[in-house]
Amino acid sequence: MDRKKERQYILQKKDGKNHTFCILPWIHTAVNPNGDVHLCCRKSEPVGNINDETLEEIYNSDRLNEIRTKMVNGDPVKWCEKCYYEDRLIENNSIRQRVNKWAKESIKKGNVIQPFSVDDNTIPTEKVFYNNVDNDWVKIFEDQEVKLKWIDIYYSNICNFACRGCYSLLSTKWYDDEKKLGMEPHGFHSIRFDHPSLKIYDIDYIRYLGGEPFLMKQTEEYIDYLLKTEDIDKKILYYITNGSVFPKKKIVNAWKRIKKLVIMFSVDDYGKYNDYFRHGSDWKILRKNLLKYIDLSKKFDMELRVSTVINIYNVGRLDVLYNWLIEVGIKESNIMFNMLHQPRELCIKNLPIDYKKILIERYKYIDLPYTVKTIILKHLKDKSNIPFNDVVSFTNKLDDIREQTNPVKELRNIMVKTT
Ligand code: SF4
Repeated sequence: MDRKKERQYILQKKDGKNHTFCILPWIHTAVNPNGDVHLCCRKSEPVGNINDETLEEIYNSDRLNEIRTKMVNGDPVKWCEKCYYEDRLIENNSIRQRVNKWAKESIKKGNVIQPFSVDDNTIPTEKVFYNNVDNDWVKIFEDQEVKLKWIDIYYSNICNFACRGCYSLLSTKWYDDEKKLGMEPHGFHSIRFDHPSLKIYDIDYIRYLGGEPFLMKQTEEYIDYLLKTEDIDKKILYYITNGSVFPKKKIVNAWKRIKKLVIMFSVDDYGKYNDYFRHGSDWKILRKNLLKYIDLSKKFDMELRVSTVINIYNVGRLDVLYNWLIEVGIKESNIMFNMLHQPRELCIKNLPIDYKKILIERYKYIDLPYTVKTIILKHLKDKSNIPFNDVVSFTNKLDDIREQTNPVKELRNIMVKTT
């Protein structure tokens, strides 16, 4: 962390509040396809690797304890800068703030997070930006000791999409493109379901990420395991899917027996615009599968969410997708928007100033929830951290490799003028 940032934190601390505490290192962890273990699903330096140590050893390690101590003391943690950035941009908007609020509501006082004083801030509106705070979850952590309760697991990076905001560690489809871009891509990674260092049998809340979970054999293996245990009704399963593969009947049937099911369907735009950003996607298939999930959600207790990553291509037309989702029956509160920060070439704050002005004007009238608009406007008004030429170059190189043409005409025209 550079000195300027450090000074900023020290100044922040003068108000007597803790600005760095996050509940996640106590109750949660994220395991990447290469075995790296992280504090959360945000891209950061790993705190260990399950090929070197067991998950339990990592959870109890001095490294993790140092991080926890820093958080309790209100000191900055190197890998959590994205949350601090979000906190600086808009009060109470970071994932940190929202998981803290969620955990506070979820865990009885004096049980898990007791001696720590957590900021008592609230979320700006009912329509929570990421909607991590969800009262339905209140019972999940009640009356339980401090231990890993929630794991994000990327069993493999196998994927049939190469979304522009992703990379080879999380999608095998990126391998060739990264080679052509002169990068050193990650190869295929896969963690065995019965990996000896990854005993997740007593963790009740599992979130599957990828890669595409429904292309992974481990997803089915876990269901096979569940069907043999008595604990099946305690499990909360959360799948983040690209929507291209509908799960097998066996999996769907097993879901009817678990405690809670959440399906998070990732869609970034409507129709051909989505297929452009989420390379490999076929809108017709996605549409069909989304409607199947909507149908399924009417038949048994499941929560269907849609997640959209805000980026340079969709920022001017997010209302199209949003209104279509409402029209087909997705609950307004289950449509989540996430701001893309990486790669920086796709981050909206790196758009050129003239286009930002047009967008800022458009956002006065656009039909989107107030919170989403506020956050987008804050980012549009924020300073760029790379020149627009880099943005154009990234888009052009990928377009050439993938033989694609950016369908967002207004942005394409600006890019043409820049080159
Ligand atoms: S502060 Fe943010 S980045 Fe750090 S562990 Fe919490 S949610 Fe993750």
